[in-house]
Amino acid sequence: MPTSGDYSLYFHIPFCSRKCDYCHFYVLPDKESLKDDLLKALKLEWEKIRSHFDSLNLKSIYFGGGTPFLFGPSRIAEVLSWLPPAEEITLEMNPENDANLLKEYRSLGVNRLSIGLQTLTQTELITLGRTHTSNQSLQSVIAAHDSGFDNISVDLMYDLPDQTLNTWEKALNEVVKLPITHLSLYNLTIEPHTVFHKYRNQIEKRLPSTTENFYELAQQKLTQAGLHQYEISAFAKPGKHSLHNTGYWLGRPFWGLGPSAFSYWNGSRFRNVSNLSKYSTALKNNESPIDFTEKLDPDAAAREAFLLKLRLTQGSPLPAFPLPPMPDLLEIKENHVRLTQKGILFYDTVASEIV
Ligand code: SF4
Repeated sequence: MPTSGDYSLYFHIPFCSRKCDYCHFYVLPDKESLKDDLLKALKLEWEKIRSHFDSLNLKSIYFGGGTPFLFGPSRIAEVLSWLPPAEEITLEMNPENDANLLKEYRSLGVNRLSIGLQTLTQTELITLGRTHTSNQSLQSVIAAHDSGFDNISVDLMYDLPDQTLNTWEKALNEVVKLPITHLSLYNLTIEPHTVFHKYRNQIEKRLPSTTENFYELAQQKLTQAGLHQYEISAFAKPGKHSLHNTGYWLGRPFWGLGPSAFSYWNGSRFRNVSNLSKYSTALKNNESPIDFTEKLDPDAAAREAFLLKLRLTQGSPLPAFPLPPMPDLLEIKENHVRLTQKGILFYDTVASEIV
C-alpha cells in the first residue's frame, strides 16, 4: 500500500432521467428510494476502506455517473462530510438539471463542474436521445458561471450520425464563447448493450467519414480560443487542467466507490459489481463489493503507465523498455518522448505497437 503521497476518490452515482441511446455506463432511474439505498451503501463502503488512506493526501474528488447532480446537495453534503478536504471537487451535471441548486452545490465546496453538452446542434441531441435542448446547454453554462463556478468543463462529441463539419464548426464557435475553462472531446463509439448497437446498421450508414478532420478542426478552434491542449482529448485555459483526470494519466492511485466504479490501487485494478442491489447487499454483509481484480506484471504495468503518460502533450520520460521505431509518430528529445502532431491522431496505432 502507498504510505505517502496523493490519491483521488471517484464516486459513481448512476442516476439519470433517461438513458441516452449510445450510453454503456451503469445507469439507474432517478428514484429517491434508490438514492437513499446508495447513500447508505456508500457510507458502508467508505467505512470499510477508509483506513487505506491514513497518512495520504486527498488530491481530488470526482462525482461521476450517471448524473451525480441528481443525487441532490444534501446527499453530496453528507458524502463530503465523511472525507478530508481536497483541492478539486468535481460534480458532473447535464444541461437540463435544476440550475437553482447550483449555488447550494457551490457552497458545499464543489469547485468544478463537468457539464455534458455533447453537441449544440438540436437534431444531433435528438439522435443521441439526450433530454436537453441546445438552448438549455448554453443557459446551463451561463447559470453555472453566475452561481459562482469559475472552473467549468464541458463535454463535446464528434463523429455523430448526420454530423457535418459545418455543424461541428458552429458548435465549436459557440462553445468557445461560453465561460468555460476546460473542454473534453469524445468521438462516438458504438458499444454493446446500447440502443445504437441494436440499430448499428442504420446508425453506421449515417456516420460521417472524415473523423480526423473533425478532431483537427477542434484542435485548431479550441487552441485559437486559448484552450490549450494538454492531453489527447482535453483542452484547458492556463492552470485549469483537470487535477483528477491528470492523476489518471500520471498513475496517481485512485479508489472508486459505488456500483461499477473502477479503482487503481497498489498496482492493481479492480471494479465494484455493476448492480446497486448486489453492491448494497455485499456491504451490508460486510463482504467486498469488488467483482473484478487485475494485477499487471511489472513489464505490462510499465508499458501501460508509459502509454497513459504519453497521452499528455508534455509526454513521458523515456521508458526502460525499448521503443519500436516510429519517427513520424513519436518525437524523442533529451530522454523525453512525446507524440508528434500526427502521433496524436494515431495514438491507438502507437499504443498497439507498445502494449
Ligand atoms: S446522461 Fe450520461 S450517464 Fe446518463 S444516460 Fe446519458 S450518457 Fe449515460
